[in-house]
Amino acid sequence: MKKLLITNSISVKLGLLFSGIFITLLFILGSILYGVFTHLFVDYIKQDLLVRGNNHAIVLKEQFNQPTIEHVVRMETGVTTKVLITDSGQRVLSGSIHVSRDVEKHLLAKDKKLTEGIVLESDWKHHNYLITVSPIGKNEGYVYMYYPSGILREIVIVLNVLMIVVGIGILLLAFGMIGILSRRLTKPLLMMKEATNEMELGNYRQNIPITGSDEIAQLGNSIQSLGEQLDYYENSRNDFLAAVSHELRTPLTYIRGYSDILIKGIDKSTEERREYLKIINEETKRISHLVNDLFDLSKLQAGKFELEKEWTDINWIIQKVITNLKPAAEKKNLQIKASLKDIPGVYLDTRKMEQVFYNLIENAIKYTTQGEISIRSYLEQELIIIKITDTGIGIPQSDLPKIWDRFYRVDQSRTRKTGGTGLGLYIVKKIIESHDGEITVESMENKGSAFTIYLKNNC
Ligand code: ADP
Repeated sequence: MKKLLITNSISVKLGLLFSGIFITLLFILGSILYGVFTHLFVDYIKQDLLVRGNNHAIVLKEQFNQPTIEHVVRMETGVTTKVLITDSGQRVLSGSIHVSRDVEKHLLAKDKKLTEGIVLESDWKHHNYLITVSPIGKNEGYVYMYYPSGILREIVIVLNVLMIVVGIGILLLAFGMIGILSRRLTKPLLMMKEATNEMELGNYRQNIPITGSDEIAQLGNSIQSLGEQLDYYENSRNDFLAAVSHELRTPLTYIRGYSDILIKGIDKSTEERREYLKIINEETKRISHLVNDLFDLSKLQAGKFELEKEWTDINWIIQKVITNLKPAAEKKNLQIKASLKDIPGVYLDTRKMEQVFYNLIENAIKYTTQGEISIRSYLEQELIIIKITDTGIGIPQSDLPKIWDRFYRVDQSRTRKTGGTGLGLYIVKKIIESHDGEITVESMENKGSAFTIYLKNNC
């Protein structure tokens, strides 16, 4: 399904998640505010009411007469709170509140005695007033103080409305911010999706313009370099197939041509026939060399590259390869100079090591037109060092790190002439590394190259 379902969109999921978190936080904050209000604020009002009632009671204790009572009542007019003063039998003497049934209902029982002021009614949600009562002297009378609960309920409503408005505001803001944030977050992901879709179609080189260094940017960079790798392997594979078919076609053409001549008997002399058979033999060797390389490659790829180690003389292997390749060098008027110092027996895979020297010396001959190829072997501390130097065309510095890659050939045109699949050095490096050794290269264009192998004396 190409089109993303809206509920599958990561921005929607993130939006919902963050909104959920915001709403929960808002709910918690609201509950805390509500709790603070109802407990602390209402407590404060009750205390204030009680203190004022007590103060009035103290004043009235001094002079419990009508003028003082009226004075106290006057003090409580024009304010939110109300006052009611009764005698010891709960008979109303004066007050700033209309004595309704509700008010009467809350008066103390006639025989009730108080030692100090108390809160009579604190249920502001269900009653009209918060009420306190303070005894005057030794219960000579009582001062009732009233605070209308309606005010508290109004404050709660205002507070609720305020919280809802603020909540909606915060939610809208949060949604906006989440929208922007999640789009910023998902945009690179969508770009990566597009890029991988393109890669699926074979357009491996993709530019994913992601900045920063967070995990998403790292993922983008990884996808981009993965694409570059795929592109490189795709090109290498194509080059490799072209190289292999070229490598096969040339010897096969020779073999078919010369064998045709031999079959038809149109050769002139025994000498000529021997020459043709030699060519056929040479070309067969070339094919088998190529097939061996391919075989080694497939074993390397499958991780089945096993060594058959034995005690052997490394100089003997080098000498054998030199002898085999001497004719090829002489054909190009190149000299092979060998300086092989005494090296004690080593434990290694003779056939594979032979392949290493064969590849390196053959390359040296292949890529050299004049001068010489020199091979040195010597011991340095615990290391056996073998150096193969030529005076050939060299390798550009930019190509040096890549020559060890599978199928890598420096300049396609030059290798097409010389042949080669770009497998040789890859296999060489693998063989050396499987012997715990190391191989390095130094080269200068048009001056020559030097490949150095380092093997442990007891490898
Ligand atoms: P090939 O089969 O193409 O020779 P290799 O893996 O042996 O493959 O070598 C990889 C590339 O490195 C070659 O294509 C060649 O361009 C370069 N190269 C290897 N050895 C030499 C050398 N002695 N002098 C110059 N270039 C070399």
